Amino acid sequence: MNAKVYDPSEERFDDYLDSVYGPVNVCGYTYVAFQVLKEVDPTAYDADYSEYCTDNQVYICGECGEEYDNEDDAEDCCQPEEMDDEEDYDEEDYDEDEDE
Ligand SMILES: [Zn+2]
Repeated sequence: MNAKVYDPSEERFDDYLDSVYGPVNVCGYTYVAFQVLKEVDPTAYDADYSEYCTDNQVYICGECGEEYDNEDDAEDCCQPEEMDDEEDYDEEDYDEDEDE
């Protein structure tokens, strides 16, 4: 119950853009697509980053700091093992032996 939610880092967003758009050619020069967007239209870049953050929240285990894409996984990380010993008590079984 102690997972923390973070926005993905801007570096992560840049990596994502790079993986999708890669290098672009502008007038015979090659640039990295996200770098161009940042320079040419920072507003669009910020808007896309916000959207990316909403869709790609990072969940971090409050205990060890491990990153997860999914909240349940982060919650389950470092959870103490449940005690299974209780299951050995089958009190209900005593009623079964009725000899009439
Ligand atoms: Zn953990």
